[in-house]
Amino acid sequence: MNLSEQYAYDLDAAHPSATRSQFIQLPANRGSYPHQAYFAGNSLGLQPITTAAAITDVLESWSQRGVHGHFTGGDPWLHYHQYVNEALSRVVGALPQEVSVMNTLTVNLHLMLASFYRPTAERHQILIEDYAFPSDSYAVRSHARLRGYDPDDAILRLRPRAGEDVLRTEDVISVIEQQGPRIATLMLSGINYLTGELMDIAAITAAGRKAGIFVGWDLAHAAGNVPLALHDWGVDFAAWCNYKYLNSGPGAVAAAFVHERHLADPDIQRLEGWYGNRLETRFDMAPIIDTPPTAEAWVLSTSPILAIAPIRASLEIFDSVGMPALRKRSLQLSDYLLSLLDDLATRAPLAIVTPREAARRGSQISIRIDTDVAQFARRMDENWGVIPDDRKPNIIRMAPIPLYTSFHDCWRGADAVSRELLGLSIG
Ligand SMILES: *Cc1c(COP(=O)(O)O)cnc(C)c1O
Repeated sequence: MNLSEQYAYDLDAAHPSATRSQFIQLPANRGSYPHQAYFAGNSLGLQPITTAAAITDVLESWSQRGVHGHFTGGDPWLHYHQYVNEALSRVVGALPQEVSVMNTLTVNLHLMLASFYRPTAERHQILIEDYAFPSDSYAVRSHARLRGYDPDDAILRLRPRAGEDVLRTEDVISVIEQQGPRIATLMLSGINYLTGELMDIAAITAAGRKAGIFVGWDLAHAAGNVPLALHDWGVDFAAWCNYKYLNSGPGAVAAAFVHERHLADPDIQRLEGWYGNRLETRFDMAPIIDTPPTAEAWVLSTSPILAIAPIRASLEIFDSVGMPALRKRSLQLSDYLLSLLDDLATRAPLAIVTPREAARRGSQISIRIDTDVAQFARRMDENWGVIPDDRKPNIIRMAPIPLYTSFHDCWRGADAVSRELLGLSIG
């Protein structure tokens, strides 16, 4: 393993990024490099340079057209949320009519659970992972309570084996096979926020559906990170935020996926609002909704146009690259970072938590360091201009983002960990 800084520069020269220049790098806070090495794009992606203009276009139309902006101008707002459907469906492997942008992630999880948690006395459990993101845990517990079940009994949490950090697919499937008749809904993370583990979505979805379970995925850390094939895998529902790998800004509007087989189901249970009415009849102002056979039927309200503009800007970049090329670069960067950290782990007190096999991870590498990780992350930033993020109790997450992270950034990331742990440069 070549640990030198020069080797990182050589890798960048050999594998130049086609899209790094389309993002605004954070200005340096110290040191001799022109910008900070940013590893928190799994928490909030960097800003594309085209985002500001996309928002300004909407402001301009508003200032010039007022309410007519809904119907006139180059991009009438009435259709605005649909402008992203094609590009977004390519990111997650869906049909355009299976996706819609709306609300925020936790709200969308609730809307999906309203449709796909249909408990009965015999079958009322929801299966999640034990270290699910807290909002997901709260969402499923509140749904159980809403439907009259005791959340402590209704929520089944999958734990890794003793001494292991991540779940095994065969263990998830064996729980599904054994407890299936009591499970109404399964809602797992495509990639776990803490460990970076990429689940075998296809295999778990197939096992769940075979057991008569509605299978949903929280793709907060998977959408825009790894190639997905939600339609072909037969996933019932999914939801994700657009501010992490999808670079659409803080609190960006989120998205949801509903499989085609549910879209024309007249008996589906759903929470509804007027923007879920077909456009052709929406302004008839009728008392009974007339829904389209698309995921748009789950949209409730007037679209937040200013907040959707950044999603359009970002998805244009995804379309220019495509998920296969993005995945290839993601693995080149994360394999390099992993090899640097692996080498460091032979000398320093850190453990790599994320699975090593490429098929079981995305861009994020999680390392465990038995120290106050919030302070550790702060020191990486203040002393070395490197921004990771930290999660309790002892995890530092580093995500090299294929659209804008360089090999040299990866070197700086591992170097900062080495300097903080050993007081020495890695190179
Ligand atoms: C980031 C994330 C969330 C955040 O939900 P918001 O409603 O956008 O605040 C929820 N769940 C998971 C798994 C996440 O990674």
